[in-house]
Amino acid sequence: MIKVLANDGISQSGIDALQSKGFEVITEKVAQENLIAHINSEKIEVLLVRSATTAREELIDSCKSLKIIGRGGVGMDNIDVSYARNKGLEVYNTPAASSASVAELVFAHLFGMVRFLYESNRQMPLEGDSNFKELKKAYARGRELAGKTLGIIGFGRIGKEVAKRAIGLGMNVLAHDKFTTEANITLNFFNGDKKTFTVETTSLENVLENSDFVTLHVPKTGDKAVIGAEEIGLMKTGAGIVNTARGGVIDEDALMFSLDKGKLAYAALDVFNNEPNPSIHLMMHNSLSLTPHIGAATEEAQDRIGAELAEKIITFFKK
Ligand code: NAD
Repeated sequence: MIKVLANDGISQSGIDALQSKGFEVITEKVAQENLIAHINSEKIEVLLVRSATTAREELIDSCKSLKIIGRGGVGMDNIDVSYARNKGLEVYNTPAASSASVAELVFAHLFGMVRFLYESNRQMPLEGDSNFKELKKAYARGRELAGKTLGIIGFGRIGKEVAKRAIGLGMNVLAHDKFTTEANITLNFFNGDKKTFTVETTSLENVLENSDFVTLHVPKTGDKAVIGAEEIGLMKTGAGIVNTARGGVIDEDALMFSLDKGKLAYAALDVFNNEPNPSIHLMMHNSLSLTPHIGAATEEAQDRIGAELAEKIITFFKK
């Protein structure tokens, strides 16, 4: 029986799919330092990880039974991918499975910000019974998203999912991508109707200068932030920004400064420099809508991830 070790967990749908084809799925987590010994003693052929477990050169060299390393999710920084492939291993990830979940989180933050939900949820337990009228006044100047312009930086899988939702809400979309010049965005409606919009991308400057809200969907490359003080300087006064991409894509200090000075009115972060120990100044900042890197963390995305990995594993062993 082929053994699959899902060391950072896998959805039930993934387990069911694999078991139905006769695979043994082990979900008991093995500590990183014991992983090589465990894979060898159990003759594990497939190692599945998310972001916690690493698969480095030493593991790849030491575990001769291993045929596949699978990453549930996108980024493969925790796997020595080319090294593994050069040694004849298959390495899979599931890049598209979580795009819709991340896109929905962007709107959770946007809607929450324009109605001060993040702030209101902090204050109501403290003062809701004693200071209701003042709180009502404090959060009275809400805004609507409809009719506003959403700037999307990085027009790949997630950027396009964000565009679909923005168009559906009646927002204008401006998109910038380093490599893509245009993309077709198809909206599927409840009654089976479809409507396709072609969105041409534009310069970063144009997006920053003309958007009411900006959302980032680029990979992290190098140490330089895509959005620093200079780029924030180009944005409209009172605009908002959302980062669900990777920590460091926005310069965190420049962001806090722009919020303190009233240049930006709203900001939301799902990802941080130095995770899992983000800056306490960010955590304590009143004007930030915060989530702990949960962009892909929906039941639906985890189901799709598990099912996609299972399908790839089953196909590989069928050959
Ligand atoms: P993708 O590769 O499909 O799209 C990225 C796009 O960015 C590409 O079209 C690329 O051409 C463009 N790009 C690259 N560098 C750029 C730059 N400097 N300026 C402008 N455009 C640039 O990736 P994706 O699946 O859409 O993921 C986007 C980001 O979201 C990644 O950083 C990924 O790590 C992150 N992500 C976060 C979560 C979460 O839990 N918050 C979950 C999944 C993915």
